[in-house]
Amino acid sequence: MSFGFNPAPKPISRRLKPTTKQRGRITPEVYQGAMERSGGYCERCGKPGRQEYGTLQCAHLIRRRKIEVSTTVNDVAMLCGPSVNTGTCHNWIDYTREGREWAEQFREELYEKARLKEGR
Ligand SMILES: [Zn+2]
Repeated sequence: MSFGFNPAPKPISRRLKPTTKQRGRITPEVYQGAMERSGGYCERCGKPGRQEYGTLQCAHLIRRRKIEVSTTVNDVAMLCGPSVNTGTCHNWIDYTREGREWAEQFREELYEKARLKEGR
């Protein structure tokens, strides 16, 4: 018989990875941050988010499944939409290779700026 300390084993933490949908969720804070950054203008073409140009939409700059944890303000851009209409910036980044590359580049720049802002 042993007198060893024998605590109950710790429950194994099995935190599930957020789903693609959860990771892709744009929270009101993220939306607000992107809107403030854009100043109400499309972050690609610079058109104001007015009716005649279509509405500004908060667009993902990378595929949702590539997002690690959750969507941050640096993963999105305010772009003119709607994404289903050819010729809008949101459509361009979602459906053309050129647009996709621009989006990834733009995202890099956002993260770089965020790093500089926080840094030292
Ligand atoms: Zn635009």
